[in-house]
Formats: sequence, structure tokens, C-alpha cells
Amino acid sequence: MAVYRDQAVVLRTQKLGEADRIITLFTKEHGRIKAVAKGVRRTKSKFGARLEPTSYVDLQLFAGKSLDIVTEVASIENFGEELSGDYKDWTTANSILEAAERFTENEHEPALQQFNLVVGALRALAHKTYDSSLILDAYLLRSLAVAGFAPSMTVCSRCEKPGPHKYFSLVGGGSVCSDCKPSAAATPTPETLQLMADLMTGEWVGAVESDPKSRREASGLIAAYLQWHLERGLRSLPLVERI
Ligand SMILES: [Zn+2]
Repeated sequence: MAVYRDQAVVLRTQKLGEADRIITLFTKEHGRIKAVAKGVRRTKSKFGARLEPTSYVDLQLFAGKSLDIVTEVASIENFGEELSGDYKDWTTANSILEAAERFTENEHEPALQQFNLVVGALRALAHKTYDSSLILDAYLLRSLAVAGFAPSMTVCSRCEKPGPHKYFSLVGGGSVCSDCKPSAAATPTPETLQLMADLMTGEWVGAVESDPKSRREASGLIAAYLQWHLERGLRSLPLVERI
């Protein structure tokens, strides 16, 4: 099939030649792909500004030999309009996009759960549904869970002894009991572990009532946990302003 349609979130764009761009897209049905948008940098481009990072679009693509070619674009939701005016929202959105690219390891591999998490996080961010830091941390935790790296918040991740436990191991799978704890383990407060559990399961009522200290501690643990499991941290994460 030479021509196909799909929905996608624009993750990234790169210049190509005089007027074109390579667009990294997270598509709903075809996973992460790279496609060429011809003439997109011309002022009278038929694509307008619809192929910018965070754009949620409906596309028609032509399957090329190496890269696919974007032939039509219609906007589904223009998150960029809401997000680009606020530094914190914009850097948060970019961390989500960068993480999405890292969580989709191979191109052309459908990843519907990850796709839905990205759209949901960008929408919550654009509509200011919750605090942007909480949205980012919930997104990161759930993406880790979908990727098979869900940290344990109560049960010991080594011996499965029921918790809650005092220790949290980044190199292990989260909570560890005092018998199993490695030499380097964090000791988050019970409130922080509760917040992380709430964010992972979408218990927003509990999450929004969390205090700034727990949020700060949770963000630090999630960033470190993510860095360990993705083997290197997100470049954009340190730019996000936290509490
Ligand atoms: Zn144990």
C-alpha cells in the first residue's frame, strides 16, 4: 500500500535542504516513523504550522523507499498553541516528547499504549488539568510501567515481602525490604511513595493533595529511576522548572 493515513503526534523536526523538514512522528498505528515534509519551511507551505512539535494531526503519507512522505495534514488538536507561550509548560511538553521517542525503541513498531499516554499527557498539560510537574511525573511513571519497568511502591521488589518498606532501590525495582536493600538505596517518606503510587494508577484526588516536599522527592526519584532504565537521562528534563 503506497498511500496510507494515520494519526500522529509530532515529536521532533529537523531541517532538510532548503525548504524541507524531516518530521519524527509518533503515529497511532505505525509507531514512531520519520517522514519528509516537502516545502514545509516556505512561507506559503500547504502544511502551514501544523507540523510543529506537540501537534496532534491526521496525516496522509506516501510510503517511500527510505523515508515516507507527508502528502496531507489536518490538525486534530493544536496543543502547541496553548503550550508554547509558557516556558514551564513548553519544557515539560518537550520532556514528554523526548521520553516518547526513547520509549519507542524501534521505528514502525506500533505502540498504542505509549501513544495514548503521550496524547493524554499533552492534552492535560494544554488544558492545565493538573500541575505540570505532576502530569510529567505521572506520564513518566506510566510509560515506564508500559515498558515493563514499573517500580514497586509497597511490596519488596526482590522477595515480595508485603510493605510499605523504608527503602527504594533505583537499580532494583523500587521498594525493597531491609533484608534485600542494596548498599545504595533511597529512603523516601511514606507520603512520597504514596504520591508515586497515586501518579502511576491515576489516583489524581490523592496526587493533587500531595505537599511540595513529597512532589520534589518523587520527581527526583522518578528522574533517577528513568535515567537508570533508559541508560541515560533525558536532555530536556533538567530544563523543566520544578517546585
Ligand atoms: Zn525483600
